[in-house]
Amino acid sequence: MPHRSVVVRQAWSGRLSRCASIVVMDVAIAPTIEDRPGLSGLAPDALVAWLAERGEPAYRARQIGDAVWGGTVVSIEHAAPLPVGLRQQLAEAFRFDTLAQTELRVTDGDLTEKALHRLGDGALIESVLMHYPARAGSRERYTLCISSQAGCAVGCPFCATGELGFGRDLQTAEIVDQVRSTTRRLVAEGRRLTNIVFMGMGEPLLNLDRVLEAIAALNDPRRFGLGARHITVSTSGVVPGIRRLTALGPQFTLAVSLHAARDPLRDVLVPLNRRWPVADVVAAARDHAGATGRRISYEVTMIAGVNDTAADAEAMVELLRGDHAHVNLIPMNPVAHTPWTASPMPVIERFAAMLRAAGIETTIRRNRGQEVGAACGQLAAEHAGEPPAPAVARRRARLVAESAAALLGERSHHPAPVGVGE
Ligand code: SF4
Repeated sequence: MPHRSVVVRQAWSGRLSRCASIVVMDVAIAPTIEDRPGLSGLAPDALVAWLAERGEPAYRARQIGDAVWGGTVVSIEHAAPLPVGLRQQLAEAFRFDTLAQTELRVTDGDLTEKALHRLGDGALIESVLMHYPARAGSRERYTLCISSQAGCAVGCPFCATGELGFGRDLQTAEIVDQVRSTTRRLVAEGRRLTNIVFMGMGEPLLNLDRVLEAIAALNDPRRFGLGARHITVSTSGVVPGIRRLTALGPQFTLAVSLHAARDPLRDVLVPLNRRWPVADVVAAARDHAGATGRRISYEVTMIAGVNDTAADAEAMVELLRGDHAHVNLIPMNPVAHTPWTASPMPVIERFAAMLRAAGIETTIRRNRGQEVGAACGQLAAEHAGEPPAPAVARRRARLVAESAAALLGERSHHPAPVGVGE
């Protein structure tokens, strides 16, 4: 597919804050369904075999790898050390970049860059780059949050991706090309990516084979070469997936989207809980920590009057007391079509104090990039358009009723979302 790799426009949108800028780049002239596999998703031995079939020496694989992972080459046609004929064969067989179009929004004084990527078949996914300047006791970091699926089947009601529903699993190259796209921008500015978190669109453990292939590429010193300790995989609680990761041994950090410690409320906030209840999730995470020696990170989106009460904090203490764990409390991002808002900071501080008093390490995180829709799925939701007002009203009323019933201790009678119960 022909590409124009240029900055196309810089614009203001009525839906954006004044300080947000939009840049569209790597523009495909006509996005179509694209059958060629992504070159970055090819394992090194498969690439060597592909070269051998064409009579090419194995060292060409290293030259191709330098072009794919070096962060400076924008297309295989520009991979100078390769013979022109081989470049043509590679271009015919593989896509150098599976991201057909990338739209950037920058905010937080340039500290947060949200990217909306259009894939070859038109599916939209998101990644977010967060810059943490050096402070006393901590080095400068560039953390990239990436997607593993287009949409998500889990359907957490405080998440814009959950409202969009499930589109499809991402291919390995579509996952790692989010990293390569960001790396090209950083390398051009003399900067370097330091951390990757699988906390974007999708449930990584429901696309685990591709996620593991992507991690292998990101961790491989001959490819992206990022240390395993700098990679975090998040799950909303796919117990068989956690157990599979545990069997693989210490590889990377595991984060669990907890959100509530009581089943009735977690049934509402994380519908996957109807398939794998919170005690089973935490037991699997505890075994992972025991087997790998790696601390589990628990993420809790704080929603005013819903999951931020003293009873919720007490339940969390009971659930996690004595575990090798760290809890992150994050004020809910403003997401359309929910009846909820973020917990006030004094409430979050009280919640944190109760956890800390029980010996549970707890950090309050601040939201990044609210002006540009940094919450997972918000940019894709903008493109999907506004749902009909009656449907929005019904959704809000259902969430109010379900969370009220949950606070009274009633469990949901709805089954787990389709596609997550196998
Ligand atoms: S929070 Fe994560 S698991 Fe839940 S719907 Fe959103 S993307 Fe899916």
